[in-house]
Amino acid sequence: MNEVIYSYTTEEVYNQIINKGIKYIAIDFDMTLISAHTRGCAFNPSEMVKHQHIQLINLIVLINNNKTLKVAITTFSSAPESIKDFLTIVLPNIDIPIVSGISRDKNNHIHQAFGIMSPKETLLIDDDTRNLMAAKDIGIHTMYCQIDKKDQKIYINVTNY
Ligand SMILES: [Mg+2]
Repeated sequence: MNEVIYSYTTEEVYNQIINKGIKYIAIDFDMTLISAHTRGCAFNPSEMVKHQHIQLINLIVLINNNKTLKVAITTFSSAPESIKDFLTIVLPNIDIPIVSGISRDKNNHIHQAFGIMSPKETLLIDDDTRNLMAAKDIGIHTMYCQIDKKDQKIYINVTNY
């Protein structure tokens, strides 16, 4: 994988989503929406708020404001109720579907989240390159997300891999 990482603001990422004609946005949870790994276990949602990735939370608000776009959390976590409680705290007015469960195939989660969708209109935001490569293999757009704890920017590797 190319190590060059570009940083984008929330608005720049949102504009990329619009410019690429993306309509379905799947977002990973551990180490993507939060800067912690829950290892699939139940966690204290109010504690996890400290680890929220503000830029991605703000991105979900922008996506939700555009009624032509759909967003879902796709995660291998087996504790979706903890994720739901976390989302109720940080995004109280937005109902976000959560597709979870231990699997080695996140593409299945993406299909479950959005039903029949065109891969070209779909984006996966994730920190796990295996998930991203599998999504890319079927034509889904990918954004490799890294969290910078200093300035809370979204870091995205935009190179192909
Ligand atoms: Mg992850």
